[in-house]
Amino acid sequence: MQPSDAYVIGALERLAEIEANAARVARIAKLPDDAKFFQRSANAYTRALCYWLAGIRPTRTPNGYVLPSQRAGEAPHKLTMDGDWTCTCLAGASMHWAKALIIGLEVAQDDMATLGDDSPPEIPARLLDEDAALLELVAGADLALNLPDADW
Ligand SMILES: [Zn+2]
Repeated sequence: MQPSDAYVIGALERLAEIEANAARVARIAKLPDDAKFFQRSANAYTRALCYWLAGIRPTRTPNGYVLPSQRAGEAPHKLTMDGDWTCTCLAGASMHWAKALIIGLEVAQDDMATLGDDSPPEIPARLLDEDAALLELVAGADLALNLPDADW
């Protein structure tokens, strides 16, 4: 069953926050590699959230999902479950927005099964109002980490 928007948005926001917290802890603990790893995950979930809010939706395939590339002329992300979600793009099994979106979808499905149809988690108003600010945040975080301006 396709979870409602509120569940997916809630799940992606929660996952981004968990990873961002882990990155903060790693920075405090002076573990730069871990900090970068968790920050990259946080960015992937935030980016997935931005794309979800922009109306990007995965298409179900017999063994996974397909998501359109967000870079002009590039092949779509084809994700299959092979122990972990693995993508046909350069990112492979490592964390990027397409994989983050599918994980968010799965978490949302679990949340919906647990909490039921009637009580979707509340969406913080700022998420609905400040898509642009979120996008800037992601772009800024990428720059700060000196990551390539990649689709993933
Ligand atoms: Zn991909």
